[in-house]
Amino acid sequence: SNIPKIVILGAGYGGILTALKLQKQLNYNEADVTLVNKHDYHYITTHLHMPAAGTDNPENARVNISKLIDEFKIDFVKSTVVQIRTQDKKVILEDGTLSYDYLVIGLGGEPETFGIPGLAEHAMSIRSINSVRLIREHIEYQFARYKREPHRTDYLTFVVGGAGFTGIEFVGELADRIPQLCRAFDVDRSLVKLYNIEAAPSALPGFDPELVQYGMDVLTKKGVIFRIGTAIKECSPDGVIVGDGEEIRSKTVIWTGGIRGSRLIEEAGFETMRGRVKVDDYLRAPSHENIYIIGDNSLMFNEEGRPYPPTAQIAMQQGVTCAHNLVAAIRSQPLKTFAFSNKGTVASLGKGEGIGVAFGKKYLGRKAAWLKKLIDLRYLFIIGGIPLVLRKGKFF
Ligand code: FAD
Repeated sequence: SNIPKIVILGAGYGGILTALKLQKQLNYNEADVTLVNKHDYHYITTHLHMPAAGTDNPENARVNISKLIDEFKIDFVKSTVVQIRTQDKKVILEDGTLSYDYLVIGLGGEPETFGIPGLAEHAMSIRSINSVRLIREHIEYQFARYKREPHRTDYLTFVVGGAGFTGIEFVGELADRIPQLCRAFDVDRSLVKLYNIEAAPSALPGFDPELVQYGMDVLTKKGVIFRIGTAIKECSPDGVIVGDGEEIRSKTVIWTGGIRGSRLIEEAGFETMRGRVKVDDYLRAPSHENIYIIGDNSLMFNEEGRPYPPTAQIAMQQGVTCAHNLVAAIRSQPLKTFAFSNKGTVASLGKGEGIGVAFGKKYLGRKAAWLKKLIDLRYLFIIGGIPLVLRKGKFF
């Protein structure tokens, strides 16, 4: 048939929004849409720091894709993409091949380790349901091991590399969880060390300094030991070497210090910067009018020429524009340029605490924590309506 084929790779924030908008906007038989994702569920990445620390169940951070999309309008394929072949307009999956007329790439990011020796091999990262289950179990296991080998206090030392939003949110949760673990395993709290190590001269680089200071004060009171302006030089199974050669012995290193695009994009021959493609104003890859790249895989610059940080917020907005432009392209109508509208940023600092900027105002403490919940509920509403809000929403 000559119905155009649209293939969307990745059902993350960008891919899901693209699919949801397409299913609404396309007329019957106007296009065949296929959504491909590694798992049959979408994960709410912005929640993952909680199940990783063990303060929430991983179930609350995932939603079955079949509950989100209309399978009469969109074909969902659960598979892993292994190669993108732009010359043939084909995508190779682990168990098959798909051809496309229009492609949307939203495969999300991968940890960037900046070539720091040992980090890729020995550190864990917060990126999927599977990875957070591993982190949670690993942390609990260290407490159990310590009880059998009480001279090994290094089992009770936890290192988080990176004090960006993910690192800060994770140490906030873990600092809340540690007292519970100490009670459950009869461990003296003073033996447990939680380090947050950041190479930049400040935590949350670029964020409002007053809020950063507040956040660090809250977390320090909860027992977090900050090492700011201190680089991790090396990571091994026995811990990390930092700054001038100081060794922090630990069996648990969690790296949140960098994110890059997908290797599949580099391998496909696109020009990339750290695995991200600089897209045009319509979100298309250079010299590929039929390929849209969104979310953590795309690179866009603001008016000052600085790259937008990869966030769920921008990925969602790109998904909306991408769907609009696909429909317009199919109908030979003019495309829309993408303009990011920054709604603000809020970071949680564990239970009942947070910091953020929204609606042009600063928020801290309990108000920021509420705001964070509101943003989460809004997202659930956007992708799944009231039923999803009621099933997965956390109101308290
Ligand atoms: P993703 O949401 O990462 O989705 C990519 C999808 O592609 C996934 O479903 C994955 O399984 C799938 N996939 C990957 N490779 C393959 C393959 N080879 N084959 C098939 N499928 C594949 N942003 C905010 O705006 N606010 C926040 O508060 C916030 N908090 C965060 C907290 C944490 C702990 C983390 C890790 C991130 C946070 N972010 C936040 C960033 C945000 O989650 C990302 O920017 C966003 O998820 C990017 O969306 P995406 O659509 O590009 O990719």
